[in-house]
Amino acid sequence: MPDLIASVTVQDIRFPTSLEKDGSDAMNKAPDYSSPYVTVTTQAGLIGHGITFTVGRGNNIVASSFGPDIEVIFSDFAGFCEVTHHVKTRSDPLWKLLVDMEPEKLVSTIDFRYLEDALTKEEAIAILKSMQEGKAEREKEMKENGYPAYTTSCAWLGYSDEKIIRLCEEAMAEGFTRFKMKVGSDLQDDKRRAQILRQTMKPEHLLMVDANQKWEVQEAIDWMRELVHFNITWIEEPTSPDDVLGHAEISKALKPLGIGVATGEQCQNRVMFKQFLKSGAMQFCQIDSCRLGGVNENLAVILMAKKYGVPVCPHGGGVGLCEYIQHLSLFDYIAVSGSLENSCSDVVLHLYSHYKQIIFFSSFNGYSQVPGYSIDMKSTSLEEFEWPTGKERQDLFQKGIYKPDNEAIGPLWYLYN
Ligand SMILES: [Mg+2]
Repeated sequence: MPDLIASVTVQDIRFPTSLEKDGSDAMNKAPDYSSPYVTVTTQAGLIGHGITFTVGRGNNIVASSFGPDIEVIFSDFAGFCEVTHHVKTRSDPLWKLLVDMEPEKLVSTIDFRYLEDALTKEEAIAILKSMQEGKAEREKEMKENGYPAYTTSCAWLGYSDEKIIRLCEEAMAEGFTRFKMKVGSDLQDDKRRAQILRQTMKPEHLLMVDANQKWEVQEAIDWMRELVHFNITWIEEPTSPDDVLGHAEISKALKPLGIGVATGEQCQNRVMFKQFLKSGAMQFCQIDSCRLGGVNENLAVILMAKKYGVPVCPHGGGVGLCEYIQHLSLFDYIAVSGSLENSCSDVVLHLYSHYKQIIFFSSFNGYSQVPGYSIDMKSTSLEEFEWPTGKERQDLFQKGIYKPDNEAIGPLWYLYN
């Protein structure tokens, strides 16, 4: 007898990251990294948690969607629910379930509509079968060494020079060899901060930069030509995340300079990824666990990336995203790509302590063996940071640092009412 969902609740969780400029970039000067936190309970007593990521007040909009239309939302995720059901009954973490699944079964969970000109079911099955050999060794390797990661946490745009140096040195002491810096507001400032990082890092370490969609196409090309001396591995989100042809133009112009284009964190479906991959518009494929519609859609993209020879480097710069993407990275390496060349995952260190799951990347001990794809926030964090009633929030209100937000969801709310 099938188990049924008995209740769904949502909490509005916001962390005051803007106070320290954590998460600041060229488009978001003072974000409060936040997440609607959903708890689903089934009639059999199973409990699952899920989040998505916002930069503050957008939380209202997402949280309010969990109203009368909730059944429609869940029906969209039927395939995902099937996967989670299997996970629960097998007591495996999601990555392990995917790695062990028969190729035909795994491919049956993917919607190939509109993908046939890029990847067929038969090709997907052939890819998975061709990678069966060596899976056990790669799984063992991951358990022993962890998955390679880079850190975004030491060079947010609003950080002082002293803080960048201190955090970079701390990250190196933890074992990081790849670093990402936010760029795009002021060219001279970018040059100065890149210089600081390069002087702190070792020569062989990798430096990536992220413009968070700030530029026009030609502006992106010109700006990156100015930064070429800093030996940049990739420029992330140089322009509008929807501009496939613009990304292709930037990729073509920067290729002779040895700079790749990374994008995908705002890419909302497999068809967009198909266009990016087929047109040579991305050299690093940054899937996002929350932006795409569930695990199944990510499986389609991971397999397409394999066919087009583009490394998958998931986006983790948010709340709880690292805890999710470890499953996708492990599946990608063990069962699909079989290569760590140019592959790495995003790690953001400043909020992971709020979650029970352990991130399974190099520089961290252990990894999640919790069944499923759930993400559990610690009860103390929920109590402190729920908006607007949490203890930490009330304290910030009393000090006058924040004001309670009683304006529903801002301009959109007024437009539709
Ligand atoms: Mg980014």
